Amino acid sequence: MSPIDCLFCKIVAGDIPAEVVHRDERVVAFRDIRPQAPTHILVIPAEHIASLAEADDHHRDVLGDLMVVARDLAQAEGVAQEGYRTVMNTGADGGQTVHHVHLHLLGGRALRWPPG
Ligand code: AMP
Ligand code: ZN
Repeated sequence: MSPIDCLFCKIVAGDIPAEVVHRDERVVAFRDIRPQAPTHILVIPAEHIASLAEADDHHRDVLGDLMVVARDLAQAEGVAQEGYRTVMNTGADGGQTVHHVHLHLLGGRALRWPPG
């Protein structure tokens, strides 16, 4: 999948609408179209990286940025106190369906463990 065909690259470019809740030079975050919890936000690198498995060592900073933005959004959404979950699905067995790295931020209800 090239960045040109990538759904999330199109959201970064503004070519597909999304409810964007954060945008800076390296990171964009928007609400998941099929929320699995009262707060369900996807935090993604502005640069196309297909999956965590395909990330390079030089992506370590932007991968860290995703976590820091998720932390701040959890605070802004009011779920930090009660707790929340950050999840990155990778590859077929991981359940990844969109091949542009994304960190799910889920909160606002008690989440079960282990996942299915
Ligand atoms: P994953 O299964 O981990 O690859 O997650 C992909 C996520 O993207 C799913 O939770 C979808 O609901 C979400 N999604 C797919 N298309 C869109 C879209 N156009 N806007 C927002 N979220 C989307
Ligand atoms: Zn992409």
